[in-house]
Amino acid sequence: MTDLFLQFKEKLIELYYLSSALAVLHWDREVNMPKKGVLARAQTTAALAGVLHEKLLSIKPFLLPLKSNLDDGKLDEEASIIVREVWREFEKAEKLSTDFVKELARVTSEAHATWAEARTKSDFAKFAPHLHKIVELKREEAKLLGYKDSPYNALLDTFEPYATAEEMSITLEELKDFLIPFIQKIKNSSVKVDRNILKGEFPIEEQVKFNRFVAEKMGYDLGAGRIDVSTHPFTIQFHPQDVRFTTRYDKADVFPALMATIHEAGHALYEQGILVENFGTPFGESISLGIHESQSRSWENLIGRSKPFWTYLYPELQKEFPEPFAETSLDNFYRALNCVEPSFIRVEADEVTYNLHIILRFEIEKELVEGSIEVDDLPKIWNDKFKEYFGLEVPDDSLGVLQDVHWSGGSIGYFPTYTLGNLYSAQFYSASKRDIPDLEEQIAKGEFTDFLQWLRKNIHIHGKLYTARDLVMNVTGEPLKSKYFIDYLKKKYSEIYKL
Ligand code: MG
Repeated sequence: MTDLFLQFKEKLIELYYLSSALAVLHWDREVNMPKKGVLARAQTTAALAGVLHEKLLSIKPFLLPLKSNLDDGKLDEEASIIVREVWREFEKAEKLSTDFVKELARVTSEAHATWAEARTKSDFAKFAPHLHKIVELKREEAKLLGYKDSPYNALLDTFEPYATAEEMSITLEELKDFLIPFIQKIKNSSVKVDRNILKGEFPIEEQVKFNRFVAEKMGYDLGAGRIDVSTHPFTIQFHPQDVRFTTRYDKADVFPALMATIHEAGHALYEQGILVENFGTPFGESISLGIHESQSRSWENLIGRSKPFWTYLYPELQKEFPEPFAETSLDNFYRALNCVEPSFIRVEADEVTYNLHIILRFEIEKELVEGSIEVDDLPKIWNDKFKEYFGLEVPDDSLGVLQDVHWSGGSIGYFPTYTLGNLYSAQFYSASKRDIPDLEEQIAKGEFTDFLQWLRKNIHIHGKLYTARDLVMNVTGEPLKSKYFIDYLKKKYSEIYKL
């Protein structure tokens, strides 16, 4: 390795340590900070973000010669990937002027506040001018970054590197063609599932204990992490040895917290599985939001809502919370946990209808950025699509187009990564069952080590060594297909709903 490369790597590692400090501030804001600290914290964050931005630009004298070495094929494989990935980030940062970034931050922070108010009052007209401005800026951003075919590609690439809108459209269209009639079949089924049997009274301290127990059982290392409470559950990493997540408790229902814990622990296991020696380089980073989400969804849905998992965990749950579970059979419990019902709010949706929520958003935001629809028409477009896909009339915009925070924060191109996560997870899971033939017997005994080791070996330890596309190919032998997820839903829900 050349001196230049080593110096460059040192600079990178310093940059990562600094961004960890920013991440700690973010975690603290969501978990600990008193209300009155908001403004000062925003200033601290902005100041540190400025320092980081300058630091990133200061690697240019190291990066430029390495980039020409890369183009001339003079770097070994490891250095090539590091330089390629850092260059991508650097180029993006350089293409967006400081003025543009500041303007976007200003517009989105105002938009966020107005959106929150507009949502409470279900008043889209109030939010519309802000969204209009955001869409304009995002179109501008796409232009500055450069793109092929659709400006949406430039935005999608921020969240799911190397993915394209065209591929997404094909995959999601296939999924949609399956989901709409399948959900209709479930609706018409004679099997009626009552989710209310899961409700009861669950003291928070006991829930906390149970959540910790489950996370540790999955393999989450509490010596290198913490579980706290926040309004919206999230996972955050400062280093592979300090990966934290949050959940939220409901006294009347044990599942919002538990499923959030299983989901976030899935994210956290990915970050704890990154090799410490790779910290500070792209090999110490996750591949994409879609791959990250595949980890959380594998644990939350494929494992955490499965019969084998509850064969193991249900007796533990019954022991901890005899009221209301002692009298409920595992079969009834399992059905209730997997109740499918079209509803208005994405974050409350079951795993079948969930993806239709995403498809609807993807179609709308793509057209919005491409300019084939306009902001003022969104409520009507949203409600018409909702009626078509879910068979439900949206009663007001707070249950419709205003429900999600993403667009108000300028996150356009983010939504599809949720469904990508589901698709990746099903394809990976199928490969893991091929490699571990008795996987489901293990899970039914509460043994998760082999599965976690499989994820570690095949996904976690690589960091960004592979792109998402190559990883899926390497691990499963095929490119990403919606087939695996569709087959999974078909099998599971045909059984539950006797279709
Ligand atoms: Mg997630």
